[in-house]
Amino acid sequence: VKILAIESSCDETAAAVVVNGRNVRSNVISSQIDIHTLYGGVVPEIASRNHIERINQVIEQALKDADTTLDEIDAIGVTYGPGLVGALLVGVAEAKALAYAAKKPLLGVHHIEGHICANFIENKGLEPPFLCLVVSGGHTHLVKVLDYGKYEILGKTRDDAAGEAFDKVARAIGLGYPGGPKIEKVSHEGNPQSIDFPRAKIVDGEYDFSFSGLKSAVLNYLNGCKMKNIEINQADVAASFQCAVTDVLVDHVRNAIDEYKMDKFAIAGGVASNGNIREALRKLCQEKGVEFYHPSPIFCTDNAAMIGVAAYYEFINGKRDDLTLNAIPNLKLGER
Ligand code: ATP
Ligand code: MG
Ligand code: FE
Repeated sequence: VKILAIESSCDETAAAVVVNGRNVRSNVISSQIDIHTLYGGVVPEIASRNHIERINQVIEQALKDADTTLDEIDAIGVTYGPGLVGALLVGVAEAKALAYAAKKPLLGVHHIEGHICANFIENKGLEPPFLCLVVSGGHTHLVKVLDYGKYEILGKTRDDAAGEAFDKVARAIGLGYPGGPKIEKVSHEGNPQSIDFPRAKIVDGEYDFSFSGLKSAVLNYLNGCKMKNIEINQADVAASFQCAVTDVLVDHVRNAIDEYKMDKFAIAGGVASNGNIREALRKLCQEKGVEFYHPSPIFCTDNAAMIGVAAYYEFINGKRDDLTLNAIPNLKLGER
């Protein structure tokens, strides 16, 4: 089964060809980072316009790289939520037009399901059930992957997502957008023990997360330094912040592994490309005798290959969408 997948939920215009769910034949990503950097974050209207300008070329390139044609495709998968509505609509409209014109089945894919499925690309032996930590720009979910397309959400963030916290703290210490990779880079020069930022625990939801308190603590620390005329050490702040996020993530995963006796664990989403977080979770899994999985950085951040993987499992489960498929900006995982 050969799937053409399209992703346009945020600021990456992407298309990919994926065969039988695990074999990525092409993976084209056109990032708009350069454009949005000027504004310190993603501007929705600008994102939509750029998707429109790029999407046809990106799809053509994906078909060409895979040495195939639209005729030879078995189905078209597209992200239909969650994400920016205008951005999502570009991909959904394109996928519907192609499905109609080429008479191909259409499958709407949940973006976060795609992030989780990114783990199947390089780990051919990975199969559910497994525990998965999704840490991205808009989501922080700890989920049990019960089966393909079947999820039980154990916990999620009550406020900011992990990636969002990285982006906001980066901006506050003058690193700019996107914050995650920049914080990771300067952290190498800093001392993670230099500032004791809070590690939030949620009393009535063991597996839920909260990162807004940590973000505020960083902002308060910066204000305090300013008032006392102390020069901040950017690397120390970054390293201490990253360490606090890592500790919270590791703590939650440890508890879930113990409670649910999972023997496989995977991470997903843009923040999963963070080396410090990845190695801390790898170490935890080693201690616990749990198999550890993670996608390569290129499959952690937004891409269409992961959407093609998710679409494949939907396809063989018999799912089909029709031309009434619409973008759903706040789509919940496990809903349709
Ligand atoms: P969502 O998937 O929740 O809709 P999104 O698609 O914008 O949000 P992703 O593309 O999965 O998010 O990831 C982008 C996020 O990952 C950004 O917040 C970015 O700062 C963060 N990120 C990327 N690389 C790193 C890194 N090395 N360390 C920490 N965070 C990172
Ligand atoms: Mg992005
Ligand atoms: Fe994403």
